[in-house]
Amino acid sequence: MSFPITLDGVYIDGQWSAGSEHLRVINPATEALLTTVNGGDEGAVDRALSAATAAFAQWSNTSGAERGAILRRIASGVQAGRERLMYLQSSNNGKPLFEAGIDVDDVIATFEYYAGLAEALDASQDSPLELPSEAFAARVRREPCGVVGLIVPWNFPMVTTAWKLAPALAAGCCVVLKPSEVTPLPELELAAIIARSGLPNGVFNLVCGTGLAVGAPLSSDPRVAKISFTGSNAVGVQVMQRAAETIKGVSLELGGKSSLLVMADADLDLAVELASGGGFFNAGQMCSATSRVLVADALADEFLQRLKARAESIRVADPFDPEVEMGALVNQAQYQRVLGHIDRGLSAGARLVCGGGRPADLPRGYFLQPTVFTDVPLDSALWCEEIFGPVLCVRRFASEQEAIALANDSQFGLVASVVSGDASAAQRVANALQAGLVWINAPQVIFPQAAWGGYKQSSLGRELGPWGLQAFQEIKHVIRAV
Ligand code: NAD
Repeated sequence: MSFPITLDGVYIDGQWSAGSEHLRVINPATEALLTTVNGGDEGAVDRALSAATAAFAQWSNTSGAERGAILRRIASGVQAGRERLMYLQSSNNGKPLFEAGIDVDDVIATFEYYAGLAEALDASQDSPLELPSEAFAARVRREPCGVVGLIVPWNFPMVTTAWKLAPALAAGCCVVLKPSEVTPLPELELAAIIARSGLPNGVFNLVCGTGLAVGAPLSSDPRVAKISFTGSNAVGVQVMQRAAETIKGVSLELGGKSSLLVMADADLDLAVELASGGGFFNAGQMCSATSRVLVADALADEFLQRLKARAESIRVADPFDPEVEMGALVNQAQYQRVLGHIDRGLSAGARLVCGGGRPADLPRGYFLQPTVFTDVPLDSALWCEEIFGPVLCVRRFASEQEAIALANDSQFGLVASVVSGDASAAQRVANALQAGLVWINAPQVIFPQAAWGGYKQSSLGRELGPWGLQAFQEIKHVIRAV
């Protein structure tokens, strides 16, 4: 598959156009230029918001059934374009093709799920509310909150978009989407699919571009009722500050420093597989990476030996290699950031068990070996900060209480995993963990029906499930005298 030399990066009111900001899009596995995207600036954001505002009156008054039908058409369009979307996702992000397939299937499931919730809205609209007085009657309406700005990162392009876009459209909101400037290609293709779905012009608009040129004006504009943002904590703070000036609603999905707890009665093979998946899937560039692996004393030596063997067996390769298990990191900046974390970890006295550098057979591309550390000081950046790369830190614990305390000792609280042979003990540990989602003896499976989001500085609000839809709705009560 080849690309045109430049792509229009602005889609407003049903029209594609070229913006003035030229974004170089790189293939992280080869470091070669894939294409250039002509992204937009503040002026494009202004036009996109005018289009979205104009379209809102009509779109917000469509029935849930009408909106559901369009969401189902988008899901079918994504299904029909599955191969091309997978190709774009892998070429632009560096992830293995099989992981890109999981992403595309997640997008389809998300649009279908919110189609169902949109359809169900019609029956629940204007539901009566019981009051303690017969002199009054009340009903409840759930209405779209308005024009919304969606800002997403590069690690799961399309997926983070679908988790916002599908519920926003289901609720009846009009949208301006800003994809990551690092990975705009999957979203450009998704936008082309949406453009063919029958969605009225102006309901969905896309402006590619940098955070400063596009994200910042989108977060400040008074026409935006809500910003839904996924990305780093540093930028999340800026988005919230800008949004505060006009009291916008804000949903944030931010960083993580999550733990996998291997209890004394755990199945060791399962524990090693789950630790490997939680650390090395998507080359560890996951907000939900379980980068702290806490292992019961009795199993620790054997576990570390097996995890080292597993990490060293992982085939790091081009995303299109049929045997690939782990692809490339997304770009030079991220590659250097992760190498910096590894260097600082070594300086802080952490012991490198395996990995730590570039695989010998891959001289080009942002490839890194799956890396495992142990004896990591509790006050080191390696232990405390989000690394966002294929780096695991293994630590022993003597008691269940100590394991829980270590896992909860973080400014973040996104997810956690527990591996245990005792169902009730695992449940007790899960209940004690400060995390929005806990997996027990399971890989990081995600269903659109279950909530996504975390405690503390990982999130504000929840995505997916009915909570993801409510994030784009206002509640209106109508009370009349009988
Ligand atoms: P980032 O914060 O640098 O960028 C995210 C988005 O914000 C991009 O589209 C970027 O262009 C935009 N942006 C940058 N500056 C902006 C500004 N001043 N105003 C408005 N928008 C601006 O994050 P990233 O490096 O793309 O992604 C990695 C981060 O995302 C990690 O911290 C990761 O944990 C987080 N993440 C969280 C979740 C979750 O669900 N909690 C999921 C995926 C990624």
